[in-house]
Amino acid sequence: MNLNFKISEFIHSDIAIKNNLNNFPDINSLDNILNLIFYLMQPLRNLLKKPIIITSGYRCKKLNSLVGGKIISQHLNGYACDFVVYGMKPNEIINVIKNSALEFDQLINEFNRWIHISYVKNNNRKQILE
Ligand SMILES: [Zn+2]
Repeated sequence: MNLNFKISEFIHSDIAIKNNLNNFPDINSLDNILNLIFYLMQPLRNLLKKPIIITSGYRCKKLNSLVGGKIISQHLNGYACDFVVYGMKPNEIINVIKNSALEFDQLINEFNRWIHISYVKNNNRKQILE
């Protein structure tokens, strides 16, 4: 599989920069981010054939609290990312994922504005919150 995501897409945060936070993941979170890309986000990008924009990936603790994330957010471990797809509504994206063979842990339509998705290797619940 040709991987064309950049790790920076899952680490970059304007809020982290603005607040002088080092949002670089530890090695375990990095491993989780790579699994998220390899097993879920890259196959999804290949399936949709449309630009996927990661709006939030890994979050260190301080960044997570600054953006109002849940205390046990999967963003903290690199399991989760939020994204939008140009030209697709969140419910359309959810339908494509539902009808695919993609493994995921949680798939959430956030306020009809973006999708939250996570991948936990060997422990995917395939939970959907529309
Ligand atoms: Zn999220």
